[in-house]
Amino acid sequence: MKLLLKNSRLLDMVGDLPEIKERDILIDENKIAKISENIDEQVDKVIDCNKNIVMPGFVNTHTHLAMSIFRGYKDDKGLMDWLYNSIFPIEDKFIEDDFYWNSYGSCLELIETGTTTCNDMYFGTKYILKAVEDSGIRSVVSWCITDNSIGNKPVETIEYSEKFNNDKDSRIKVFTSFHAPYTCNPDTIKLVVDLAKKLNTGIHVHLSETEDEENQIKEKYGKTPTEYLRDLGVFDVPVVLAHGIHFSSSDIEIIKNITGGISHNPISNCKLASGICDVINLRNNGIKVGIGTDGTGSTSTLDMFEEMKVTAYLQKIKNMNPEAIKAYDVLKMATIEGAEVLGLQDEIGTIEVGKKADIIIIDTSNIRFTPINDIATTLVYLANGSDVLTTIVDGKVLMENRKFLYSDENLVKEHINQNCKRLFK
Ligand SMILES: [Zn+2]
Repeated sequence: MKLLLKNSRLLDMVGDLPEIKERDILIDENKIAKISENIDEQVDKVIDCNKNIVMPGFVNTHTHLAMSIFRGYKDDKGLMDWLYNSIFPIEDKFIEDDFYWNSYGSCLELIETGTTTCNDMYFGTKYILKAVEDSGIRSVVSWCITDNSIGNKPVETIEYSEKFNNDKDSRIKVFTSFHAPYTCNPDTIKLVVDLAKKLNTGIHVHLSETEDEENQIKEKYGKTPTEYLRDLGVFDVPVVLAHGIHFSSSDIEIIKNITGGISHNPISNCKLASGICDVINLRNNGIKVGIGTDGTGSTSTLDMFEEMKVTAYLQKIKNMNPEAIKAYDVLKMATIEGAEVLGLQDEIGTIEVGKKADIIIIDTSNIRFTPINDIATTLVYLANGSDVLTTIVDGKVLMENRKFLYSDENLVKEHINQNCKRLFK
């Protein structure tokens, strides 16, 4: 199938400065085949971009897709109280339908707000993976192993990793995972490390999220959570470390040498008052930092535009310097740098010939977009997820003019509401 995007104002996210180029984009199957002025070629479908902004879809480096039912549930609590008293007791009751439909709902929200790749971490992962497959989004699916029986079974991780990671063209990649240093015992963590090494894949884990976590691990093991994970071999494989708020300067020296990077989740960190990640310091040390939403329980929305705004604002306030971070750097974190954190930089994150066609069209016809003096600041400080008109993943148009082409949104809503009734009764 050949798809032609005509009359785009392209922000390809290549280079050090934001530049708008008037281009047509030819997509052949799942790849970008040609970028040029006035492409005139026989194709199966043409989308007229009407001079709207065309850019790479966002890469959400940390989320929990199946948590969509926790949107607005027991808000305004601290992390440990919220997790242990409100979230874990409901999660214990999850069945297949909860994992599948709740995740499908999150995938649709991501697609309609411009995210084309996400990195999930949860249990019940084989049902989540099915929702990812059916929705059409690209995802790293992280197979979370826990100390108790509710977690994924290692044998499934092996089965699914072999199926998806050996297929170079697959939209799905399988990572291993454990929840956090404070919720898993060392034997579980070692098992995950061995699994990741055996499967030649990465580990997705929460790290250094709260002061409570730092204190618990120091008290129990006499070292920081980062030192503790290093000593268990976690950083011998590629890692995505969600949060990274309370790193010491010696932790930074350890993190500098990892393959992978940090997922910064600013709204979750604000809502749970976990702290402010020192994004500037991490990036100055050459550490890759992507942006994630975390689950909807701790953010309410999976809209990456919101996360970009809060990323910029927090760094300005933390440093008391309006020049601490530039809007274009935040856009990079949400696209190509996020792709680097996931090890997918050769496939996605920019719009270039040969890369996978993960593309969004942003409607700039609204009065709010007049004028556009600076495209980067306009996208980060002004735009929001409902400005996304069309979302293309792997060359397939999943949403066009805000209508899902392959998913029945009402059916998904119906199932999520049924799940809520059963779980919250
Ligand atoms: Zn999380």
